[in-house]
Amino acid sequence: MATETGAANSLLPTINNLIESSTTLSALKRSVAGLNAALGEELTPSLLRAGLNRCIKMAQNSAFAREIDALAKSKQIGRDSPLRKLSSFLDPDGLLRVGGRLQHATMNEDAKHPVILPHHHKLTKLITINIHESRFHASTGRTLYEVSATYWIVIGRRTVRQVVNSFLDCRKRHAKPLAPEMAPLPACRVTPFHPPFSNVGVDYFGPMHVPVKRSTEKRYGVLYTCLATRAVHLKLVNTRTPTRVSWPGAVS
Ligand SMILES: [Zn+2]
Repeated sequence: MATETGAANSLLPTINNLIESSTTLSALKRSVAGLNAALGEELTPSLLRAGLNRCIKMAQNSAFAREIDALAKSKQIGRDSPLRKLSSFLDPDGLLRVGGRLQHATMNEDAKHPVILPHHHKLTKLITINIHESRFHASTGRTLYEVSATYWIVIGRRTVRQVVNSFLDCRKRHAKPLAPEMAPLPACRVTPFHPPFSNVGVDYFGPMHVPVKRSTEKRYGVLYTCLATRAVHLKLVNTRTPTRVSWPGAVS
């Protein structure tokens, strides 16, 4: 057992180098699984999964060494830890997971107790990129939702946003248009103590075909809007030529 642990520890620098040098999660999983596979042995899903778990454990140890040490000794996690409110625990494989109250829920174990990932680690970035790309470059919210089905990233939304924004196409697609600066309101809209409809905006709509005696004729709707109160007044007219209405100064 001691020899196995020693051999595993001797591989840690190699795994660390593989994490730093890998550009995709698939390549990383294959490389780490290959370290353990016998010569010529085919890489199986369980070997790949074990390889990924080793990387995750390494990332967790680099960021949460104090917390893992405390949990291994059945002690309380420090008050200043970001994992303080997560009721975190170590699973039988030694992975740090979120606790919570979903033990009896009929969900898969990863969703009930997501694996905790540090936000600044390269492995977290590779996992997020993998999920983001597998969901056809989904938005930050959607990618975070998919990540949360298996992992809990500390400061997750900011981390996922950074990953999504690292793709130029995604940054362009999800960018909000720049609202143009509006001109100052005209004096007639901000001068108080004038009767309503002293200044109006006018628009026409139609034509509408209305029955007149035994035929149909065109009629237009006129929309007057008071520039001060934004009240509206509707009239039906025969033509689109401006007409004088019943209050003075409404139409110029
Ligand atoms: Zn993208």
